[in-house]
Amino acid sequence: MTANAIDAHELARSLSQLMAGSESQPSIEVYANLLQFLVGVNSDLLLLVDTQGRIHYCNRNVRDALGLDAEDVVGQPLHVLVHQPDHHLADNLLAAFAQSGITPPSIELRLNCKSEADQFLWVQMSASSMLNENAGQSVPPIICLSAKDISAQKRAEAEIEHQLAHDNLTGLVNRAQFIVEVDEAIARAKENEQSFMLMFFDLDRFKTINDSLGHSVGDLLLQAIAQRLADAQAPGDVLARFGGDEFGLLLPNAVSPESGQQACEKVLSLLAEPFSIESYQLSIDTSIGLARYPDHGTSSVGLVQSADIAMYHVKETGKNNYAVFDSAMNMDRFAQIQLEQELRRALAKSELEVHYQPVVSLSSGEITGVEALARWNHPRLGLMAPSRFLDLAEEAGLVADLDNFVQRCAMQQVSEWQAAGHDIYVSINASAAQLEREEFASTFAATLKASGIAAANVKLELTEKTLIKRKQSIVAKLNYLRDLGVGIAADDFGTGYSSLSYLKDFPLTSLKIDQSFMRDITDENDTASLVDAIIAMAHGLGFSVVAEGVETAAQIRYLLARQCGEAQGYIFSAPLNAEKMLALLVSNSAKERRRAHVLGNH
Ligand code: C2E
Ligand code: MG
Ligand code: MG
Repeated sequence: MTANAIDAHELARSLSQLMAGSESQPSIEVYANLLQFLVGVNSDLLLLVDTQGRIHYCNRNVRDALGLDAEDVVGQPLHVLVHQPDHHLADNLLAAFAQSGITPPSIELRLNCKSEADQFLWVQMSASSMLNENAGQSVPPIICLSAKDISAQKRAEAEIEHQLAHDNLTGLVNRAQFIVEVDEAIARAKENEQSFMLMFFDLDRFKTINDSLGHSVGDLLLQAIAQRLADAQAPGDVLARFGGDEFGLLLPNAVSPESGQQACEKVLSLLAEPFSIESYQLSIDTSIGLARYPDHGTSSVGLVQSADIAMYHVKETGKNNYAVFDSAMNMDRFAQIQLEQELRRALAKSELEVHYQPVVSLSSGEITGVEALARWNHPRLGLMAPSRFLDLAEEAGLVADLDNFVQRCAMQQVSEWQAAGHDIYVSINASAAQLEREEFASTFAATLKASGIAAANVKLELTEKTLIKRKQSIVAKLNYLRDLGVGIAADDFGTGYSSLSYLKDFPLTSLKIDQSFMRDITDENDTASLVDAIIAMAHGLGFSVVAEGVETAAQIRYLLARQCGEAQGYIFSAPLNAEKMLALLVSNSAKERRRAHVLGNH
């Protein structure tokens, strides 16, 4: 039975208890009135239907929400209320129920509104039975459907999804969404055994214009460029702004090398025409790199990278032109292979290091946890951050071993700190490659057990890209760890891709807002409202929120005002080696003790 079901037996029992001791038992009218009252105060839309889906009763909320009177509805099939594309969902719900009598999980579907303007209402619908067990019925004759209006939540989700997939300034799709589109183009091309092309381009003198005429002129110029290119776009093409003065253009229908080259010439000639911005006539040059699937890359990221390399080649050899990717452009390949071998050796000899960045409670200022971050102390190149070796590790198939190493070190280290009286959790990053390993969850659990840390003091951080790509295979592993008590965080939230459905599909416990959102949240703009919406959504889903990359006091004030729980960033501390991190923990708890002492004395 769902919480919304009208359980007559329960009602009768409660009422009898209430009236116990009074002379008379409640009459049937009392029950009827009470039932009427309960149905009336319920804010859900309630319907009674039979197993064929014919409607026998609806409450007032149906009229208020959909504009349909009881006369329009009673006696009609349920389909009159349900939006046509969702008929099968309603049918499945009833069929599941009628066959087994077991309450199926609730579903999300759309109901028709009478007025044209609103068209439909999103509801979460659950079914429960009015089964008379005493009469020995095994199949319910009447099913109670209760529908909760979730339109506002759906609108907010759609708005966030749109913003996450688009560039605020130009309205073009952003890099993350572009990658999604390229992935889809690859899937289609694979199926049809065809090729396609994509461009990466960059404006040659944009920085000079921006610096000399100001950002507002720069922004107007970018908008004008986006508009001009979008107007001339061929059907099916996807134009994206990657950020700054970098753009991408996916040409899914450019199957021949010639058509890709023609598209490059078209972009060059379109952008060669000067732009009138305020009182200026602005001319810009463009450098374009072109890459072809599958010759220049078989993954979306690989293809964009090839186009990027070709674009740099143009920049180095004269600008305002285009070049098709050529493997000879990949001059660094040899150095890369050498580095790869060195990384393999470093891993085997456990020469990598783990640094720790504090996570701070915004309300108390206390260090609540640390994030473990891999570092490679290279004998020749010095201390390297993951941006310099993670891709390499991934390509060489070493990243899962690297993750295992970091996890072992971090749990061991934090266990020592806990033993010394520092009550903190540890947050650890995991890669897609590690999650894909069959034994991932059991290895993680064994490392955890060996370290002696409580599962509740460990969080696993996963990027959106990992979560979306490997859905089915990883949900079970994450559920296993979640059941042990391990926290699961969506890392770099907002940068990955554009559908939020995974937030409900994975057993997440927290959400880390990517540092790119921090830059201009304190101005009143789209980023700020997006961050507000993300925090509100996370709270709605019961997740804790950590803001990443916090660098200023103004950002802290902004986040505090929105009840963001924790933050991480240079304003508190950069990542530190274990020794320095311990010193910070010690000085922090001394400060805490002083604070407690002062508070205790007053
Ligand atoms: P992340 O998990 O989002 O980690 C936060 C990154 O932001 C760290 O970069 C940190 O140094 C940086 N950061 C912290 N505070 C600030 C700030 O105030 N401003 C700015 N601009 N940056 C800040 P780092 O250490 O270079 O790590 C980069 C990424 O590499 C991490 O991002 C994580 O995704 C990945 N990574 C690090 N260690 C591991 C690991 O052991 N395994 C895996 N699979 N990935 C790792
Ligand atoms: Mg992280
Ligand atoms: Mg992050």
